[in-house]
Amino acid sequence: MSQGPLVIISGPSGSGKSTIVARLLATCGLPLRLAVSATTRPPRPSEVDGVHYYFWSRERFQDEVAAGAFLEWAEVYGHLYGTLRREVDDPRSRGYGVILEIDVQGAAQVRQQCPDAVAIFIRTSSLDTYAQRLRQRGTEDPAALQRRLAAVCHELDQAPRYDYQVVNDDLEQAVAQVCDIIRRHWQRRDTHAG
Ligand code: 5GP
Repeated sequence: MSQGPLVIISGPSGSGKSTIVARLLATCGLPLRLAVSATTRPPRPSEVDGVHYYFWSRERFQDEVAAGAFLEWAEVYGHLYGTLRREVDDPRSRGYGVILEIDVQGAAQVRQQCPDAVAIFIRTSSLDTYAQRLRQRGTEDPAALQRRLAAVCHELDQAPRYDYQVVNDDLEQAVAQVCDIIRRHWQRRDTHAG
């Protein structure tokens, strides 16, 4: 069986990438898995350890870095986040496509190591939308919210490095576009492998 594709999804906080990924997994009809990342960020009330993230202490995280457990890792908004190799390699070897929902620094690291990954950047057409969505979500305290908003422009600067940019003004349309990109990437890989 050929190895499943690797799909990188990035975008500023408030771009709606987590919602898109959740919808994609539920509706896209492709055998996809989301790699669960490790982080030192404290869990939000709705988040479950091992489902949304592995919530680790900084010490545990750094031990795993030293042990070579991460495909990539980065400090984002003051916390450490990283993709575990086992979350990627196991499902890919079983033919699943694996989605990485990671920041722009992590995406650059993965693309260097896995040039056949497809990288998709999620954005909105208006800058105001990020703040509106983050405030509406209500998961960040005022300082964390400011930190996330301050990073939006830097993250948008990285968008041209991605293979595709998808504008998420309409959720259903954005999900359909991302699904289509992954389907076409998968078909191209299979054609070349065959
Ligand atoms: P949040 O705290 O909102 O869940 O995530 C904050 C940022 O960290 C988002 O841009 C998210 O994509 C990114 N992120 C989540 N997991 C990883 C990871 O494993 N590696 C990297 N580099 N970034 C991650």
